[in-house]
Amino acid sequence: MVNPAEPLPADTPADAELRRALEQSGWRCTRQRTAVHDYLCSVESHPTAEEVFAAVRRHIPNISLATVYKALEALVDAGLASKLSSGDGPARYDGRTDAHYHLCCLKSGRIIDLPTDFDAKLLDKLDPNLVTKLRRQGFRVSGYRLEVLGTFE
Ligand SMILES: [Zn+2]
Repeated sequence: MVNPAEPLPADTPADAELRRALEQSGWRCTRQRTAVHDYLCSVESHPTAEEVFAAVRRHIPNISLATVYKALEALVDAGLASKLSSGDGPARYDGRTDAHYHLCCLKSGRIIDLPTDFDAKLLDKLDPNLVTKLRRQGFRVSGYRLEVLGTFE
């Protein structure tokens, strides 16, 4: 129970940054969204929405799966998380916002970060004119993703 006489805990710099980013994209910064963001940033497992729900529910028992989905949508929209859609199976979410590569297990759907430096020039190496060619076709490149595929034995 929150004591109304007690001052609200001060925002940490990370909280303030989260609030700023959400509000800049037109989303309110709620306790639920903060909890979903904190959880996403605390794990390396690239969880599904169901997994986020199961984890966050331990701290906020009355949170609904729909609220978790909405929180994930807000975080992705505000550039605070990425949605990793795989061919089959549920989408997974990543709280890491710096560019990095993934390793994906085709059997379990498990995704882990690949401990390799990100190469911002990789597209140029594939084709030095690729970005320009695509631009002419009306496509503006904003980045790229690379997944190393295989199976854990
Ligand atoms: Zn990742």
